[in-house]
Amino acid sequence: MILDIGRALQQPGEPFPFNIEEAEPSAEQSQRFPEGVFARSICVEGFIVGANETVFVRGSVCAKIIAECARCLKSFERSLAVGVHEVYVRSSDPGDPDRNVFQGHTLELEEQVYSTLLLALPIRSLCKEDCVGLCPICGANLNDCACEHTEGNGCTSE
Ligand SMILES: [Zn+2]
Ligand SMILES: [Zn+2]
Repeated sequence: MILDIGRALQQPGEPFPFNIEEAEPSAEQSQRFPEGVFARSICVEGFIVGANETVFVRGSVCAKIIAECARCLKSFERSLAVGVHEVYVRSSDPGDPDRNVFQGHTLELEEQVYSTLLLALPIRSLCKEDCVGLCPICGANLNDCACEHTEGNGCTSE
């Protein structure tokens, strides 16, 4: 997720739009997601504005999140969109832990994009707000009314 910030640095104050898409996270970034949670179609779009040795990035991150429901264990997909506002400064120390840094005319967005996504993930994923989970007797998914123990869960017996 590398941005060319050359023009933004040459024309301070001028917003330059950008748009990056990734089919899926790198293996390294995938490992940062909680177990059973995956991200697909990650996109980042917004503007970069340069100001001397500083670059502002404003935009939004969107992704499809595939997660296992904490109640019924079914995998489901959900779209997530979250704003990203970051400031990067030119630094000769790429490992500076306290700041977002860039070198030369390129800026690596990946770390902030995935940190933003991870923070936006719900602590407990539910396929739907009122998911009724699994049948404690036979383990069937009670949302599907698929077993004979579903009465009282909004299912009608035939
Ligand atoms: Zn569920
Ligand atoms: Zn049952």
